[in-house]
Amino acid sequence: MLLSVLPLLLSVANAFAPPGSSSPSRYIGDEGLQYLHKNFPTEKYLAIDDPNGLLQPILIPRVPDTDGIREVQKFITDFVSTQTYSEGEVPGWDVQLDVFQEDTPIKENVTFTNILVKRDPPNAKKGHTGYITIAAHYDTLIKPEGFVGAIDSAVPCALMLYTIKAIDEAITRKWKEMKAEPDRFSEHEKTTGIQFLFFDGEEAFHSWSDTDSTYGSRHLAQLMDQTYNEVNSARQTWLAEMEYLVLLDLIGHKDTYIPSFFRNTHWQYEVFASLEQRIRDIGLSARMDEKETIFTEGKPAFFRGAVIGDDHLPFLHRGVPVLHLIPSHFPPVWHKIDDNAKNLHFPDISEWGLLTSSFVANQLRVGDWIVDYPDANEMREQREKEEKAQREQAQKKKIPNGKKVPRAARRRGAML
Ligand SMILES: [Zn+2]
Repeated sequence: MLLSVLPLLLSVANAFAPPGSSSPSRYIGDEGLQYLHKNFPTEKYLAIDDPNGLLQPILIPRVPDTDGIREVQKFITDFVSTQTYSEGEVPGWDVQLDVFQEDTPIKENVTFTNILVKRDPPNAKKGHTGYITIAAHYDTLIKPEGFVGAIDSAVPCALMLYTIKAIDEAITRKWKEMKAEPDRFSEHEKTTGIQFLFFDGEEAFHSWSDTDSTYGSRHLAQLMDQTYNEVNSARQTWLAEMEYLVLLDLIGHKDTYIPSFFRNTHWQYEVFASLEQRIRDIGLSARMDEKETIFTEGKPAFFRGAVIGDDHLPFLHRGVPVLHLIPSHFPPVWHKIDDNAKNLHFPDISEWGLLTSSFVANQLRVGDWIVDYPDANEMREQREKEEKAQREQAQKKKIPNGKKVPRAARRRGAML
């Protein structure tokens, strides 16, 4: 019995080696980490008080169905729409909005808007692509008045935008090659895409309950679960297209520790842990003076499971594997007016910038493509000029009152 099983095991193991890649460098290496650190400096993109950065414009009250959240929604969709320079050659970033109305304990018919940012590999077939999914909520608590939710969850949203920016070039370059020479790439690479979800309405209006919280994620999980692909698809529903969900929450305070909550995503947790260790080992860490690491590498984990109410639950309960990245003790500013710019800790934000972008690069196997190439800086400058022009235009005509869909999103994607 054993003799007949062993050769089978060997042949299966061989089948997992991606064709044409004898080197393991599709994973991000030290050079890749150094490249991200040098070319996408967090001081530039994630500075706490720079109006040209990705974080400061989000640090305003963002209560559902108010001008504040509409302004941030526009900021996010405008930003993403300037990151699509590859359009025409390989698919760029696609923005879709999931808009719906629901009653809350304090007001009827509140409009909520989830933002979905997605990128397909070239020649992707609908129903056959799996998406690595990163998510956070972009609304804020209604009380205390003036609450800006810096860790909850402005920083996680800025980290997602930063990640889109940092990995865009590598994805585009890899996918152009994949389009031209598909045989060099594994089936897994050809059928793996990336998606970022910005949930609306995570916070309760009155007090946290199953029905007064997570409005956006509950709506989207149900919608995706009930939206079917073509009948012979490998992935029957939109929900089944989610490889796994990484949910970021309460990030940006100092001295935080992230535990591993679920057994089935512990390997992704270990990827974060080993990236953090490597960032420290090669001297790129912004928080070397903090003794404790954010993640624990290699030690037996205690899996706490779903003990925290958050946007992951509607997906978890429908079978999506979840990596919940939330500190084990909530930072002391949680749900207080003090959860503002003053109490953010830039070294931690900076570390998270490198962690999230290198994690996504690693999972998309674009390690080989995170290297210098001749016209990279020129192209980046060009796109940043476009971004700036778009922001200036946006400043001129602020979103009017009402429930308008941002123009960028209308242009880029269909409404769900
Ligand atoms: Zn909160």
